[in-house]
Amino acid sequence: MSKPRPLIAGNWKMNGRQADGLALAEAILAGAGDMTAELLLCPPATLIAPVGERIRGSGIALGGQDCHWAASGAHTGDIAAPMLADLGCRYVIVGHSERRHGHGETDAMVKAKAEAALAAGLIAIVCLGETEAERDRGEAESVVGRQLEGSLPEGASPDKVVVGYEPVWAIGTGRTPSNADIEAIHGVLRRDLAASFPEADRFRLLYGGSVKPGNCEEILGLANVDGALVGGSSLKEQEFLTIARTCG
Ligand code: PEP
Repeated sequence: MSKPRPLIAGNWKMNGRQADGLALAEAILAGAGDMTAELLLCPPATLIAPVGERIRGSGIALGGQDCHWAASGAHTGDIAAPMLADLGCRYVIVGHSERRHGHGETDAMVKAKAEAALAAGLIAIVCLGETEAERDRGEAESVVGRQLEGSLPEGASPDKVVVGYEPVWAIGTGRTPSNADIEAIHGVLRRDLAASFPEADRFRLLYGGSVKPGNCEEILGLANVDGALVGGSSLKEQEFLTIARTCG
């Protein structure tokens, strides 16, 4: 079976005023050209509309960093998946470790958010990953297996869901697991998906956690790695584009 088209997703997190975001989007647009990988920009909520306006029609996809599980209602400060779709988003990240750990999100909440994303016609990027203590206890594979089972939405399919493996201890730290450890976890994810989905090979499995120009080639070349979720390096256009070009 042929490999799915790689996805290189930039998670800008809580960074950027309008001028910064537009300049970054502009620079990525100017440098993107023809690429094998699909590029995705996930700006903070305040920048989704202007960045979306700028990249519209370019082939670069737009995404949100989170959504609520409800389609509308009394949820101060939250964003509903249909609102993201309304702004032209194609994707939304759910279950990022900064949401799971900073906002107490459980697998059940992540699953509900992913289901809301699918109902709004968005592709859900479902994130999971072990903490350092869990890895030290030898529990990494069981933790991500449990998170996958608990977080995958009803109605998941390779066209509607992307899975992001992001070890918590590797996010923003400059540390990454060994290549063998990344392959082992991605192998578990693929095997677990295959137990429920005959087309499991078509799911895109992203690695995230300190992906940089200096390590992207080896990480993106690993078995069952179909792209990257990039935080810090997605705020520097040359770094982000270098990572994306690694895919060809
Ligand atoms: C992330 O937050 O999804 C991430 C991978 O961040 P960084 O690349 O900075 O580790």
